[in-house]
Amino acid sequence: MSLRSELTVYCHKVYEKEYVSAYDGNLSARIDGRRILITPSGKCKGEIKEDDLLEIDYDGNLLAGNGKVSTEVKIHLLVYKLRNDIHSVIHCHPPFATAFATLGEGFNKPVLPESVLSLGKVPLCKYGTPSTDELPNSMLPYIDFSWAFLLENHGAVTIGKNIKGAYFRMEKLEHTAKTIFIARLLGREKTIPLQKLKELYSIAEKVYGIKIDNRNRMDY
Ligand SMILES: [Zn+2]
Repeated sequence: MSLRSELTVYCHKVYEKEYVSAYDGNLSARIDGRRILITPSGKCKGEIKEDDLLEIDYDGNLLAGNGKVSTEVKIHLLVYKLRNDIHSVIHCHPPFATAFATLGEGFNKPVLPESVLSLGKVPLCKYGTPSTDELPNSMLPYIDFSWAFLLENHGAVTIGKNIKGAYFRMEKLEHTAKTIFIARLLGREKTIPLQKLKELYSIAEKVYGIKIDNRNRMDY
């Protein structure tokens, strides 16, 4: 599958999953050292066609395609410039995760083992006005080691080595938020005991092939 058709598939997916509404959200993928493929602004992700996707350079200039570059392009550029290991960035407004972001809460406590391993700490990035430098700047303190970010009073960003990886983190983030939301309706979530958490980290690389940055560990 070409990068263009794969990105289109995941645009449709985030809309079907209701991680975005109306014209919200933006998705991108790194093509090479010169070009990035990104969604245009003002188009519903559920209706995106392959030809709608734009090619831009690392300064956000339009290289190919018809349409206006996504207003949140700065988030994407920041990630691609600072993280060579990342090839896809997804920004959505998933309701449960975004609800926590409006409370001013990130996910920094170990509650679910799979979330601990696949997301790590999910920092809350200070509120910034959309489309300005405030938004990428709010992600800067965490950019080196985080895989998922909550944007205060706004939404979420997930990143990955490929489009699928970035998408699955968005799905995992929303599922985690939903589970904690339900837990709080029933009472209060418990966290994984420290000893068990250390055990989980100790098997992460051997069993799951996940290398965890110490800055992203929940027992530090
Ligand atoms: Zn947004």
